[in-house]
Amino acid sequence: MSKVVVLTGAGGVLCSTLAKALAKQGHKIAVLDLKKETAEQVASDIIAAGGTAIGVVANVLERDSLEAAKTEINTALGACDILVNGAGGNHPLGTTSNPFLEEADLQNTTEGFKTFFDLDPKGIEFVFNLNFIGTLLPTQVFAKDMVGKKGCSILNISSMNAFTPLTKIPAYSGAKAAVSNFTEWLSVHFSKVGIRVNALAPGFFLTDQNRTLLTNTDGSLTQRGQQIIDQTPMGRYGEPEDLISTTLYLCDDASSFVTGVVIPIDGGFSAYSGV
Ligand code: NAD
Repeated sequence: MSKVVVLTGAGGVLCSTLAKALAKQGHKIAVLDLKKETAEQVASDIIAAGGTAIGVVANVLERDSLEAAKTEINTALGACDILVNGAGGNHPLGTTSNPFLEEADLQNTTEGFKTFFDLDPKGIEFVFNLNFIGTLLPTQVFAKDMVGKKGCSILNISSMNAFTPLTKIPAYSGAKAAVSNFTEWLSVHFSKVGIRVNALAPGFFLTDQNRTLLTNTDGSLTQRGQQIIDQTPMGRYGEPEDLISTTLYLCDDASSFVTGVVIPIDGGFSAYSGV
């Protein structure tokens, strides 16, 4: 059955892939993103491939902007059945320079060097807002369409670092832990009105956001990039396509008794102790 699917952050690497895969199933897609060109590009790619889609510009942190997007989507495609909360990411201001604090770090005056003590609350706030409030607000706006309807669900995008925090990125790790926790909370809260709520926890995917952290300019792996591969039993980064089948399953009635789960898609990263 064709459903109306709204994906936030769908101009980005991972969710544009999911948007295209959901369109191939015959669903009508609202490609929502802060960036107009990318939202419209993904929508026109879907249309060119024979699907139905619109590009919609909205900010997941502004309720008015989301309400305007909802009106636009309802008019063009109908009421929302599925919401994929994909907008998210990290910020350098919420990131420490080194994985571990050493005493000498307190005397390090190199420009841009950041210990835990230098982290800017504005950076932390940005990351918490984008990932957590940016999941909560679209849910408040779009899930209203779903209450009492059959076959509706929400898919949040958490991360590996929600289970065990990664070094250097306390804000992003904490914010994604909040997304996983919220996924469980909301699945319980919405259980009587027919809305299932689940999440993906992707491992490591080479995207524009993390490319410079994980690869050098010649394409070889940085020390952190190599550490990740060494810690991933399957020995590779994820490809955006690796997220498709689990997304289709969680958005489909095939998973009609599945709610409140956070599924790792990580080549075994979270299962491996390193020994
Ligand atoms: P991306 O940067 O390619 O895509 C994110 C998209 O969100 C961008 O198109 C951006 O314009 C949009 N966006 C940013 N702020 C927004 C706002 N305020 N309102 C609306 N749209 C906004 O990132 P990606 O790698 O595709 O990540 C997608 C999701 O997957 C994110 O939640 C990310 O945290 C998560 N994730 C990514 C990885 C990875 O390895 N890439 C791993 C785990 C989880």
